[in-house]
Amino acid sequence: MISVEEARALLFDLVSPLPAETVALAEAAGRILAENVAATRDQPPFAASSMDGYAVKAAEVELHAMFKVVGEAAAGRRFAGSVGPGQAVRIFTGAPVPDGADFVVIQEDVDRRGDLISITDAPGEKANIRPAGIDFSIGTQITAPRQLRPEDVALMAAMNIASVPVNRKPVVALISTGDELVMPGETPGPDQIIASNTFGLKALLENAGAQVRVLPIAQDTLASLETAFGLAQGADLVVTIGGASVGEYDLVADVSEGLGLKQSFYKIRMRPGKPLMAGRLGGAAMVGLPGNPVSAMVCGYLFLIPMVRRMLGIEQALQPFQRARLSAPLGKNGPREHYMRAVLDNGGIRACDDQDSSLLSVLAQANALLVRQPHDPAREAGDEVLYLPI
Ligand code: AMP
Ligand code: MG
Repeated sequence: MISVEEARALLFDLVSPLPAETVALAEAAGRILAENVAATRDQPPFAASSMDGYAVKAAEVELHAMFKVVGEAAAGRRFAGSVGPGQAVRIFTGAPVPDGADFVVIQEDVDRRGDLISITDAPGEKANIRPAGIDFSIGTQITAPRQLRPEDVALMAAMNIASVPVNRKPVVALISTGDELVMPGETPGPDQIIASNTFGLKALLENAGAQVRVLPIAQDTLASLETAFGLAQGADLVVTIGGASVGEYDLVADVSEGLGLKQSFYKIRMRPGKPLMAGRLGGAAMVGLPGNPVSAMVCGYLFLIPMVRRMLGIEQALQPFQRARLSAPLGKNGPREHYMRAVLDNGGIRACDDQDSSLLSVLAQANALLVRQPHDPAREAGDEVLYLPI
């Protein structure tokens, strides 16, 4: 058996960053920018007024000075002429500042009668003009890789970048296995339950940037599992859920080996999630997760998300563990790494009472996985521990 750290390193070797594709700007949010992009224009493209007021010569601005209004400059419609001595142009926010003017007196500081204005409040030093190119200029770059936030999308739009090079989303096929499983919304038989972690994992992986295909549930037969693997063709990562242990009906290892799996490892020295297998299957990476709902989800956080992030070209594919102080004591840990469902709040972090790996209700209350090393001694409230936010 190997450690979580060793497993993560081996899983990284099974995947590599995917090639770039181009998407429309409107689809770019959340994607990973694959290549640097550059502004194709200056912003603003001209010196623009930042206020509603009157464009004049700065040298003429003083309390009680009077000007004749000779025209108007609005956003999208410039004043064609130029501003001479003693002249003003009515101007609005976003409008090009006319030639000859280098100051905008805000309208609140002005009294207007017909074509004449006088300055009634001493304007400050601020010219209320945004110089051309002050936001960015032609060639200003947004550098890759970076996950595009709404702010980046707005910036790229202003730069007139209409199509964006991003890393292709990894396609993940999810195969649930088990005669006892039915899909949510179906009516289970008396001995059946609903496939749950399948949908939890779908949400988790999509959140991380993957495109997820939920395949039909495979029965616990060789033929049914083979059919499911066949349907997974074309995926970058094939994930099976359940059937990975040593019971009579745990057929994932047999079937995947029969299909040519080059196994990387089987079993991790951890709780929950010990029976986890991984390898290369044709053109895809394959991970066989344990079926217990909490085990599957915890393994999703620890193993699948980093794989997805690596395929997406994210530099820090492994999200670092964080530190918090215990708000309640902890008993000593056994021989395996333990990823305990835990609640983190202002008072610190505490492990949930029941750590059974079938309890989704406990997982749903947790917002952190508290990390224990093998044989970690008992801990007091106030001791520092590592955790992964979930
Ligand atoms: P297995 O790994 O197939 O032995 O499954 C371990 C436990 O997890 C069993 O109680 C299964 O019923 C349950 N299980 C397996 N797959 C799923 C799934 N997709 N959703 C919910 N429970 C599952
Ligand atoms: Mg099973």
